[in-house]
Amino acid sequence: MIGITGLTKSYNSRQVLKDVDLRILPGEVVAIIGPSGAGKSTLLRCINMLEVPDAGRIHVDGRQVFYTPNGRGKLGVLDQFRLTWLRREIAMVFQQFNLWPHRTVLDNLVEGPVIAKGQKRTDAVPRAMEKLRSVGLEDKADAYPADLSGGQQQRVAICRALMMDPKAILFDEPTSALDPELVNEVLDIMARLAKTGMTMVIVTHEMKFAREVADRVIFMEHGGIVAEGPPDEVFQHP
Ligand code: ADP
Ligand code: ADP
Repeated sequence: MIGITGLTKSYNSRQVLKDVDLRILPGEVVAIIGPSGAGKSTLLRCINMLEVPDAGRIHVDGRQVFYTPNGRGKLGVLDQFRLTWLRREIAMVFQQFNLWPHRTVLDNLVEGPVIAKGQKRTDAVPRAMEKLRSVGLEDKADAYPADLSGGQQQRVAICRALMMDPKAILFDEPTSALDPELVNEVLDIMARLAKTGMTMVIVTHEMKFAREVADRVIFMEHGGIVAEGPPDEVFQHP
């Protein structure tokens, strides 16, 4: 589903990702853990090109979305098309929810598919309502994000990701901004989603969740992958 080879990224000549190789299989649920500053978020952001790597290759669903001929990154015309494609196929859920504040919950869900995928609003609205129902928020369709708790906003953000029928969803510390009592309402939705066969890559500090829900855990430190494997193995050998 996602293939990464030799991914390297520096900020101000400091290497944040060092020659990272990673393959994510279709339907796989991968938790990326590790100390703050390890490069977890940067790796995630490179997968959907929110950050442009310095070198390496990235494939998504058989398409090359980034490569470095002669050791240099290239984002030509073809790649711009691929960027648009990539953003439609790989959804992202952020720590700070990133909902549009001046749109209702329903419009937050509907506008993506309508604008980016050309769906009819009349088709998107019932799908959105169904998604909201599945996370217990159908009565919030006409509310604005600021009227919701953090946990509710993040559930809406997950619904918004799903509205695009993505091939994979990237989660960047999806519960780190939440009050402790709201964390589980989001993790429960993610655990349910994991069982549906959705490909998920999750940067998280929730070790219990990683242990119980992930198929594979990747431990990053100093810009590299230092351990990976099934949760039982990785947590046994810290
Ligand atoms: P993690 O997600 O593991 O906490 P990050 O990928 O967020 O790590 O960051 C890795 C390192 O790169 C950190 O030292 C961080 O300060 C630095 N970094 C991240 N983004 C930028 C940026 N846009 N400019 C400069 N340094 C950055
Ligand atoms: P996270 O919670 O994902 O680790 P951070 O708090 O490290 O995020 O970073 C938040 C934002 O600031 C990100 O967009 C990141 O790229 C950017 N950033 C992080 N470190 C630096 C830095 N040293 N210089 C500039 N931007 C940074």
